[in-house]
Amino acid sequence: MKYSLLSIIKEGFKGNKGWKPVWRNPEPKKSYDIIIIGGGGHGLATAHYLASVHGIKNVAVLEKSWIGCGNVGRNTTIIRSNYLLKGNQPFYEKSIQLWENLEQDINFNAMVSQRGVLNLFHSDSQRDEFVRRGNSMLISGADAELLDSEEVRKFYPKLDFKNARFPIKGGLLQKRGGTVRHDAVAWGYARSADQRGVDIVQQCEVIDFDIKKNICTGVKTRFGTINAKKTLVCVAGSSSRVMAKAGISLPIESHVLQAFVTEGLKPIISGVITFGAGHFYISQSNKGGLVFGGDIDGYNSYAQRGSLPIIENVCESGMALLPMIGKARLLRVWGGVMDMSMDGSPFIDKTKIDGLYFNGGWCYGGFKATPASGYCSAYLLANDRPHTVAAAYSLDRFRQGFMIDEKGMGAQPNLH
Ligand SMILES: Cc1cc2nc3c(=O)[nH]c(=O)nc-3n(C[C@H](O)[C@H](O)[C@H](O)COP(=O)(O)OP(=O)(O)OC[C@H]3O[C@@H](n4cnc5c(N)ncnc54)[C@H](O)[C@@H]3O)c2cc1C
Repeated sequence: MKYSLLSIIKEGFKGNKGWKPVWRNPEPKKSYDIIIIGGGGHGLATAHYLASVHGIKNVAVLEKSWIGCGNVGRNTTIIRSNYLLKGNQPFYEKSIQLWENLEQDINFNAMVSQRGVLNLFHSDSQRDEFVRRGNSMLISGADAELLDSEEVRKFYPKLDFKNARFPIKGGLLQKRGGTVRHDAVAWGYARSADQRGVDIVQQCEVIDFDIKKNICTGVKTRFGTINAKKTLVCVAGSSSRVMAKAGISLPIESHVLQAFVTEGLKPIISGVITFGAGHFYISQSNKGGLVFGGDIDGYNSYAQRGSLPIIENVCESGMALLPMIGKARLLRVWGGVMDMSMDGSPFIDKTKIDGLYFNGGWCYGGFKATPASGYCSAYLLANDRPHTVAAAYSLDRFRQGFMIDEKGMGAQPNLH
C-alpha cells in the first residue's frame, strides 16, 4: 500500500479498516543470498538499499528482539555532517543528502526536520578550531556558518550569556542539520525493504555462525541453520559479543549512554544546541519536551540503563548553559549500549573470514549515519569493494596506522 493523502482520506471514510500490517512476519527460509544480523537502523537501511539500489532481494534481516528495540529507538535523534577529517566528512555529508530525500524514497513520514545544529564555542582558541571545522565542511560541499555571540542571542535569547566561566562567544551553525523521528526511521526502512521482498524475522537471535575452512556459509538460530552466501553483522552495542562467536576480536568497547526528556514546555529551542564547554546537547521535541544528553557513563556495560552520577553531571551542564532548565521536570531517562571504537570512528568492511562482513563502531553518532551506513554497506555487499565515502572505515586501520581520530583523543573510547 502506498501512503498518500488520498489513501488517508479514503481510509478515513472506511473507518480506517483497510490498513494492513506494515511488514510481514515470515518464517525464515533455509537459505538467502544475504543475511543481515540486527534489525536496527543500519541493518534495515542496508536491506532497503540492497533491494532498491542493487536489486538484491533474497535477503533476510534477523533481529533477536523486535524492530526498533535497540539504539535506533533510543537516541536523541540528532543528524548533522559537521565533521573535520576527510575520512569522515564526505560520508556524513552523503548521509545528510540521503536524509533529505528519505521520506520520498521510502514513502514514509520520518519527520525529517532540518532545524539547524549549533555548536557553541566559549574561547578564542575554540573559535579557531570551529573555523577550521567549518572550512573543512564547506570544502566537502556541506553548509556551515560562523555566528558571533549576538547572532547566537537572536536565535536563543534564553541561554546564559553572562556565565563568567563559560562565556558564549559564538557558534558554528549547520542549518541542514536537525532531527528525525528515530523509530519512524526503523519502521520506514523495514516497510520499504519488506515491500521489496526482504524477510524481516523478529525474535530470531543469531547464536552462532556456520564457518568452515575460513568461509562463513550461514548462521545458527532457534529456527536451525540458515544459509547465506554473505552475512553482515550489524548489531551496534552487541558487536564484540557477536563477532567473538566468529573468533574475531574488535577494537570496540561497549558503554552506556543515557537520554533525557522533560515535561512538555512552550517552544524555547528551535534547533539543536551543543554546549562547547562540557558534553551536553539539547533540542525540543514537537510535543514540547526538552530532549537532551551528555557523556557516556564511563564504565563498560551491556545494560540499557545508566547511573545517577552521570544524570547529575548532564543536568549540571544543562544548568550552566540554560539555567531555566532547572525548573523543568524530567519525565523520562533511559540508556542504550554504545559500540565505542578506539578512535571514535566506525567500520564498514569485510572481515578476514570469507563471506562475513562487519558494520559497527558507531559510538553515539550512528543515528545520523544510518542512511549512508546502509547505502555503503549495501554497496560493499553487492560489489565486494568499499564505497568511496566509506573507504576509510576499514577494520585494519589501527594496524596500518590510519586512525580517524576526529576528536584527537587517541585510543580512549570513553573520551570519544
Ligand atoms: C541515548 C542515546 C542517544 C543517542 N543520540 C544520538 C544522536 O543524537 N545522533 C546520532 O547520530 N546518534 C545517536 N546515538 C547513537 C545511535 O543511536 C547508534 O549509533 C545507532 O542507532 C546504532 O545503529 P543501529 O540503529 O543499527 O543499532 P540498534 O538499533 O542497536 O540495532 C542493533 C540490533 O541488533 C540486534 N542484535 C544484537 N545481537 C543480535 C543477535 N545475536 N542476533 C540478532 N540480532 C541481534 C539488537 O537487538 C538491535 O536491535 C545515540 C544512542 C543512544 C543510546
